[in-house]
Amino acid sequence: MTIGAYTRVVILLLAALVLPASQAATPQIKTQAPGYYRIMIGKTEVTALYDGSSTFPLTLFKNATPAELDRQVAAINGNAPKVVNGSVNSFLINTGEHLILIDSGGGKLLGAGFGQVATNLRAAGYSPEQVDLVLLTHMHGDHIGGLVNAEGQPAYPNATIWTSKAEADYWLSPANAAKASKDKQAGFQRATDILTPYRQAGKLKFFTTGKDLLPGLQPIALPGHTPGHSGFILEQGGQRILFWGDIVHYSALQFAHPELAVGFDADGVQAVKTRAALLALVARQQTLVAGAHITFPGIGYVSSDGKTGYRWTPVGYGEVR
Ligand SMILES: [Zn+2]
Repeated sequence: MTIGAYTRVVILLLAALVLPASQAATPQIKTQAPGYYRIMIGKTEVTALYDGSSTFPLTLFKNATPAELDRQVAAINGNAPKVVNGSVNSFLINTGEHLILIDSGGGKLLGAGFGQVATNLRAAGYSPEQVDLVLLTHMHGDHIGGLVNAEGQPAYPNATIWTSKAEADYWLSPANAAKASKDKQAGFQRATDILTPYRQAGKLKFFTTGKDLLPGLQPIALPGHTPGHSGFILEQGGQRILFWGDIVHYSALQFAHPELAVGFDADGVQAVKTRAALLALVARQQTLVAGAHITFPGIGYVSSDGKTGYRWTPVGYGEVR
């Protein structure tokens, strides 16, 4: 190549690096794709709805020293930053007869970036008025905060809220609130404030675990994280999915180390026992799982890692099938 030809190539390359004026002036959009993801379970449509996400501090986890936790996260995350990401997910079930929301997200309770369930429900093609049942896995703020709008009024005005009696007895009892430590009292007050408008309207009801609430939809008791923490099994057309609430808060860490409890557990010992039993069961039965805090959409399969832990395989993005 002559010096002249070389110079021409360099000039061409430099010209390619300069953005056209119109492109440089295009404003950036800075919004994410709508937070919903759909699958079919038999003829029933299931839509995961994104509420928000954040990082969890490692101090949240119990049953390991800070040094052990550091090692565990490093072993899982490799060179990625040692932060613990988690989402808040709700799930919408359209049976054709009923539109059922499982948990409501945090509403205004969790601050900026959260409270997007109702927005994403609309983006997914529905309206809050169409929801006729809301099933609660439990009554922590990130699962019930979205039941009320900014004015404190029911956000799902035509819905009946279903929970386990154990959960309602625990959170809606003034005696339990009075007994609770100062830092826990806000949680009791919040549950009472949010659920009272529904209760007064006769729209707070109790399901029985182990018994179908609707054909093919059964609540199951998964105690520990809270006293009445529940999951829901949906079985349609030979397919099955388990909505398991807060069985796992941080997928990378707690699948590999199911023995890790979290600071939010009401009974950490029972929560670990429930997680161990359920992980073994869903791995053995190859049950599709939907989790409230597994990275959105929080739907996937659990398998044994061949040792004492498990692996999470998320669903992939694709057509609704
Ligand atoms: Zn939660």
